[in-house]
Amino acid sequence: MGSYIMYSIIIPMYNEEEVIGMTYERLKKVMNDLDEPYELIFVNDGSRDGTLPMVKEYSEWDPSVIVLDLSRNFGHQVAITAGMDQARGEAVVVIDADLQDPPERIKDMVEKWKEGYDVVYAKRAERKGETFFKKVTASMYYRLLRSLTDVDIPLDTGDFRLIDRKVCDQMNQLQEKNRFVRGLVSWVGFKQTAVEYDRDEREYGESKYPLGKMIKLSLDGITSFSYKPLKLSSYGGAMVSMIGFLYMIYVIYQRLFTDAAVPGWSSVIVIQLFFFGFVLLMLGIIGEYIGRIYDESKGRPSYIVQETYGRSVKDHAAVR
Ligand code: UDP
Ligand code: MG
Repeated sequence: MGSYIMYSIIIPMYNEEEVIGMTYERLKKVMNDLDEPYELIFVNDGSRDGTLPMVKEYSEWDPSVIVLDLSRNFGHQVAITAGMDQARGEAVVVIDADLQDPPERIKDMVEKWKEGYDVVYAKRAERKGETFFKKVTASMYYRLLRSLTDVDIPLDTGDFRLIDRKVCDQMNQLQEKNRFVRGLVSWVGFKQTAVEYDRDEREYGESKYPLGKMIKLSLDGITSFSYKPLKLSSYGGAMVSMIGFLYMIYVIYQRLFTDAAVPGWSSVIVIQLFFFGFVLLMLGIIGEYIGRIYDESKGRPSYIVQETYGRSVKDHAAVR
């Protein structure tokens, strides 16, 4: 094979049968306009609906389509990683399957790339049709993340972005498994810029990011780019023991020099609850890190491709 590819488009999909046909058509239109060789890499992240048969069919008559079928649901970030490992293009674009990221914006990104930028991320000017809860938590989260880390992770961006071949190569070298792709892109550096866009509503199907997955993603973002929560436990611990020490002096004073003999049951309970709560919180934070250290140390691949369609590839098995 080895034919020259200019653009690789990576589309992670988890149960997207309602929308994937439209996504395919809109992407085709945009890519045909750009008029350079391209590949559409559909990554099936363990969908249990009709998503896979649909994209498989496209791959049968459309030579630009490649389908990576992961052996189960590995999660959005890992699906993107699997796509990046297979991408051959000079520029690699990651886009959601649900049309919340408008494919037409790829043209703006390509323009910036041709101006010489290595990373063009799409910044959400407006998020239509998202719940108030999601908007507020997302906005607070990105600000928190920024204040905790030294890596310059841009506010209000998702994974919709274009990266140059050399950035993709660097990212594929990174070994970590609990991946927060948008953070890693910032971490590798290079010349970065933004294009603004209005994030469309999800019109078909539901969000594949239930609260649990959101929390996992946000904790990955913080733990892979900051030790500050761990410092919180040492600072916080020091502060709480200071308070404890002062109170101890007061208790001794009370015992020796006053008649207030009735032992304060409520203060004991309050102090206990406070200390236990604090200790549990700190253990939890430490646990989040240790769990991730454990994950990394096991050396398992972060995903398994069970089948590839549309390209005569040698590697059907695990890549990373
Ligand atoms: N996705 C995935 N694996 C998952 C969850 C989501 O590949 O486990 C894909 C999904 O199909 C979509 C993208 O990741 O293309 C973003 O997901 P979604 O639209 O549900 O997230 P939201 O826009 O609600 O944050
Ligand atoms: Mg979405």
